[in-house]
Amino acid sequence: MSVLFDASKCTACQACSIACKQWNALPAEKTTLTSSYQTHQDFTPRTWTYIAFKEAWENNKVEWLFRKEQCMHCGEAACEKACNHQAIAHTEQGFVVIDHTKCIGCGYCVTNCTFHIPRVDPKTNKAYKCTGCPDRVLNGLKPACVQTCQPEALVYGRREEIMALTQKRFEQVKKTHSQAVLYAAPQLNGVNFTYILLRKPEYYGLPADPAVPFSVDAWKDVIRPFGGFAIAGALLATAVGFIKTRGQNNAHDAGSSNDKGVSKHG
Ligand code: SF4
Ligand code: SF4
Ligand code: SF4
Repeated sequence: MSVLFDASKCTACQACSIACKQWNALPAEKTTLTSSYQTHQDFTPRTWTYIAFKEAWENNKVEWLFRKEQCMHCGEAACEKACNHQAIAHTEQGFVVIDHTKCIGCGYCVTNCTFHIPRVDPKTNKAYKCTGCPDRVLNGLKPACVQTCQPEALVYGRREEIMALTQKRFEQVKKTHSQAVLYAAPQLNGVNFTYILLRKPEYYGLPADPAVPFSVDAWKDVIRPFGGFAIAGALLATAVGFIKTRGQNNAHDAGSSNDKGVSKHG
């Protein structure tokens, strides 16, 4: 399954972030007034989605650019790879969820997430982020944020259908917004939240070339699975080296005593 966020249709009403809080029983948090209309400045263990505002002064007018921020639900998820306690997994619908019975709050998922999304609550010692509303989607409902979005800036459905709709909408958006881009992160085997953006990803604070950190790949794909073999190989190499050295030393000792014997007898 997939969600499309179409920035050309978002009015920044923020109903999606309220619906997320209501459905997931997340309490409201105090916010700070800044020079922007943006209410939440960052994720917290109790704020899993918010609308980021970019107010750009272009061509003698203010350009309002909004992006809904939440976990991207990566096809290849760095958080899942980094977690040593197998606490993070993909659901059948393709969303990435944290199992709080296994999470120990180490924060590896926070440090290694491609988009810096999860947050650890020091009170519970667990990591939190958008879940994709599994209790809703398993029962045939849309995620709460999508359900509430009136201008259909958020659309949820089967992946093929969402990708086809995304392509169709993108062609339309490009006619009025020449800088529009599609953000689907094929490098991560796709993301479950695909974006139609009105500017390049960096403008919205998104990595242009999102990737799983090399250290996480090396740990998960090489060191962890082959670590046992590597250690056994290293021990074997050490043992063989030791035996060989001992053999050479013995031969050398025997040769030395021979030499001595030759000289002695000589
Ligand atoms: S509910 Fe829809 S229109 Fe409103 S802020 Fe969220 S994505 Fe944008
Ligand atoms: S955005 Fe971060 S937390 Fe979400 S699935 Fe990707 S790596 Fe994991
Ligand atoms: S999918 Fe569910 S948990 Fe994620 S942002 Fe939307 S409402 Fe919140």
